[in-house]
Parts: sequence; structure tokens; C-alpha cells
Amino acid sequence: MGLVNQERPLLNRRLEGLGTTIFAEMSARAVATGSINLGQGFPDRDGPAEVAQAAADAILAGRGNQYPPGPGVPELRQAIAAHDQRFYGQSFDPDTEILVTAGATEAIAAAMLALVEPGDEVIAFEPYYDSYAANIAMAGGVRVPVTLRAPGFRPDINELKKAITTKTRLILLNSPHNPTGTVFDRDELAAIAKLAVEHDLLVVTDEVYEHLAFDVEHVPIVQFPGMRERTVSASSAGKTFAFTGWKVGWVKATPELVTAVKTAKQFLTFVSSGPFQYAVAQALALPDAYYAKLKDDLIAQRDLLCAGLDEIGFTVYPPQGTYFVTADIRSLGYSDGVEFCRQLPDRAGVVAIPTAIFYDHPERARSHVRFAFCKQPDVLTAALKRLGQLA
Ligand code: PMP
Ligand code: GLN
Repeated sequence: MGLVNQERPLLNRRLEGLGTTIFAEMSARAVATGSINLGQGFPDRDGPAEVAQAAADAILAGRGNQYPPGPGVPELRQAIAAHDQRFYGQSFDPDTEILVTAGATEAIAAAMLALVEPGDEVIAFEPYYDSYAANIAMAGGVRVPVTLRAPGFRPDINELKKAITTKTRLILLNSPHNPTGTVFDRDELAAIAKLAVEHDLLVVTDEVYEHLAFDVEHVPIVQFPGMRERTVSASSAGKTFAFTGWKVGWVKATPELVTAVKTAKQFLTFVSSGPFQYAVAQALALPDAYYAKLKDDLIAQRDLLCAGLDEIGFTVYPPQGTYFVTADIRSLGYSDGVEFCRQLPDRAGVVAIPTAIFYDHPERARSHVRFAFCKQPDVLTAALKRLGQLA
């Protein structure tokens, strides 16, 4: 039965080609085939029991069951401010400079919708997290990629310089970077900040993996000269506390920028995750030992997976941070990551993500696949055993 009798496609042109996210597609394949899911980045063990208890307590005590305040509950905004003071010595006013969002996803979407005019150019380092392309498109912006190239996946500052035009509105930065695991260092961030100031650009920075920089430090770009007034920093509780389903994220910026982002945000979800906001407020105040263990566990899991993939014959690009490792399949005799990942569930009972789809220049990563290591060591070991059949 035809639904709408029109010549034009139903989906508007801005969203054309976006399809279903690769994460949803591959997680569904994992379930359908009984594969070990090293595709979508979510931990296979929930975060601290006391944080889960805090959420349950909040629900039962009637805290946050009705619409929480638009900017987020004061307890959470204060906890975010205290967290930033504690880890980075940064001051944000919880009343005017912090906005709670439905995950970092909404934070970035709202920032794009608020700050980008149709035709504005937005520079993002490719491979980029998939929602960036969608959000830039929704805002009518023009995506301008700057490639992080294997094996190091370091930002090429000259290439960034060349990408800036009179139409550039903002740089969308992600460090620690998904999917490459690159953590931008001080010199790189200083150079990016200098260009942003020189060209009067805004910077939206996605720091959801801020506590997952392993052997290197994570430096927020907002700390560099001239950046406080032009940076919108987004983060989230999902990765830091291993509760990705709660979707509690936030934005930090000047009151003017927060007001702009809030203008868009209030018409996307208005508010979200009421009781979970109280629990995340508690989580942010966990002792240093929690944050240290989170990192140590993931370092061990990274090392386990990287060593195993290397042994099987993948060319491994070890990450400095995040949940993910990129591997090249050419050394195993394959060439196309998309085809490889489509066949991998049936061939080996494992799911991975082809990273070429996060590029405007897919040929630069045709043979790259991403594996997530936010899984228990025995799960990683089982996955490696299965992948060993490929060798
Ligand atoms: N940014 C990056 C780089 C991510 O990997 C993810 C996925 N978790 C998000 C944003 C989304 O975060 P959230 O789940 O808080 O919306
Ligand atoms: N951030 C997760 C990843 O990169 C996925 C989140 C999602 O599915 N949107 O794997």
C-alpha cells in the first residue's frame, strides 16, 4: 500500500544517505548471530553499585520523577563544577555556565543547531563520530574534514590551517578521539587554539572519554589562551561511570554560549533522566581510586586485546585513550573493512565496526576496523580465540 503519493523522497535532503547507524546495525547483527559484540562501545558490566542504588533511591524518594529544572538539577550542576575544579582547576558557574543534556549526543546536536547557520563550514577531524555528520547536516552546515592518518592518527596542523576559510564557523574537536584513540597533546591543542583565536572560530569539544586517557594526560582545550570565551565543552557520565543507558550529559561554556545551546536543547528533549541526574551527581564525587581503577582496568583490557590481535596477524594501532582499537586487516589478506565486518559474525562470531564509514575520504581507511575493549577480559579472550580462526 502506497503511503504518500509524491514524487519527492520522504526523508529530507539534509538527512539523505544517513541510514541506520552502524552501531545499531552491528549490535543487531551481534544479537541475531550470537556473536561477541566488540562493535558498539558499551561496557558489559554496569558501573558502581552505590551509584545504581542512588538512582533507585532517587526514584523511590520521588526525586526527579517529574520534569527536572531545564538546566539540570542543582546538585548535578554543582557536582560537575566541583569535578572540573578537582581534575582540571577550571571554574564554571553551576548556575549560568553548565547545562545538563540527554547525553553528549544531545549536547553536540544542540550546539550545532544553535551555533551553525546554513552554509557555515564546520571542521571535524576524520574519522569522526557518526552523529557529528548528522548534526552538522541537520543544522544545514557544511562538513569540512581534516584527516587523522594512520599509523599515528595525529592532527596535521597545516592541513587544518588550509581547511579554514572565511565561511568556517567552528571546529568540532573530539579528544580522546573515537575511533582512533588519539589523545591530542598540549602542542597540538595549543596550535588548534591559536588558529581558533586568529580566525575567531568557535570550538565545540567532545570530551566523553576525558577519564580514559591512558598513558598520557587529557587537557581540555578550554584552558588555552583565548579559548574560554569560544569553547563549548561537552561530556557525559556514560563512559566514566559505565552507565551508557542513562544518557546524562552536559555542556560547559560561558553564559552566552550556554544560553544559545539551551535555546536549541529545550526544544529537543526539554529535560531528561531526572532521577539519574542525582545519581550522577553522587558518582562525580567518587574518590580518586574509582577513576584510577577505571583507567587501570581499561589499560589491561586494551593491552590484552591489542596483543591478541597482533598475534593473530592484524596490524594494530594501539590507542592512547577511549574504548577502541583500530586494526588494519591487510596483513591478514583482506582489503575491505566494510565487507570484512559484514562477514565477521558468520565467519568468526565476532562483531567489529568498519571505520571507513566515518570518513569523507573512505579510501584512507578502507582496510581499517575498530574493536571495542570495554568488555571483561574473559570475553576479550574468547573473542580473540574466535578471531584466531581467521589467521
Ligand atoms: N561522543 C563520542 C565520541 C562517543 O563515542 C559517544 C558514544 N558514547 C558519544 C559522544 C555519545 O555520548 P552519550 O552516550 O553521552 O550521548
Ligand atoms: N559511542 C558508541 C560507539 O562509538 C556508540 C554509541 C551509539 O551507538 N550511538 O561505539
